[in-house]
Amino acid sequence: MIGRADAAMDRRGRDLPLDSHLHTDQSPDANVPVDVYAALALERGITEIAITDHVDFDARDPAYDYVSFEERERTVRDAAERWAPRGVQIRFGAELTYNRSWEDELRAHLRRHRYDFTIGSVHDWPDSPYVPRRVRTWATGRPLAEALDPYLTEIAAAAGTGLFDTIGHLDVVRRYLHGSFAAPEIFGAVELFEPALRALVDSGTALEVNSSGYRHRAGEPYPGQPLLARYRELGGVRVTAGSDSHATSQFGWALEDGYRALADAGFTTLAFRRGPDSVTDRVAVEVPARFRRQVGPSPSVSLA
Ligand SMILES: [Zn+2]
Ligand SMILES: [Zn+2]
Repeated sequence: MIGRADAAMDRRGRDLPLDSHLHTDQSPDANVPVDVYAALALERGITEIAITDHVDFDARDPAYDYVSFEERERTVRDAAERWAPRGVQIRFGAELTYNRSWEDELRAHLRRHRYDFTIGSVHDWPDSPYVPRRVRTWATGRPLAEALDPYLTEIAAAAGTGLFDTIGHLDVVRRYLHGSFAAPEIFGAVELFEPALRALVDSGTALEVNSSGYRHRAGEPYPGQPLLARYRELGGVRVTAGSDSHATSQFGWALEDGYRALADAGFTTLAFRRGPDSVTDRVAVEVPARFRRQVGPSPSVSLA
């Protein structure tokens, strides 16, 4: 039992149709067996989950060759068979770290290996100015646009490839630069992300609402409301939602708030994929009615 005060603090998501961004012990930075997530999903009424362990393409990155594709697939598909009869659907996905310098390898990986659902993300790649030992020196004295530029170039390129179902935590670069710029300045930089948002719209790639931002100093999802709203204004209709959990305590954390954010921006469905075919396996998952705004038109996800 949790008391009233605890309940107010409790941001574990409940009664949601989907958490599409989860890391298991098959990611180097997570330690949760897939069955633990499945049991939590059952307990909390989260009926579908996507396991999206990290796949890296630079040998200096931690998820490079960490667990083979075959082993990851077997682990997740076996779990899916065990849990489907109990009412939890488990999909086999991946979070693939994108950079233009290894785009060819990434393409080749996706040609060889079939996932149900893919997230493309830009992280602080080894030669980037955002790695912890370099980021302060990099950002000091630079205008924000310049400090963001290497990240923005990669994220716009990732969004434009059309290789992924969704782009993860679009503005996570904020996290790297928090020590160097004031929050309002970084949060307000909507126009700097426009090329990435336009690339998402043009390539038909979904924008992920990643609720891990609520666990960080951002205090709001990646991306926050201004970018979500701008994406929609630009014609974006496809969004996904995930907690990006790396630990048992993070499963579904603040995912409710993530759903609220995308519903407030006018989205009524989540774009998802439940199989290897990038066209016919696409589905639209309804956002529960309790999140819906009462007024205003809403875009719907095109299945084409
Ligand atoms: Zn990530
Ligand atoms: Zn992740």
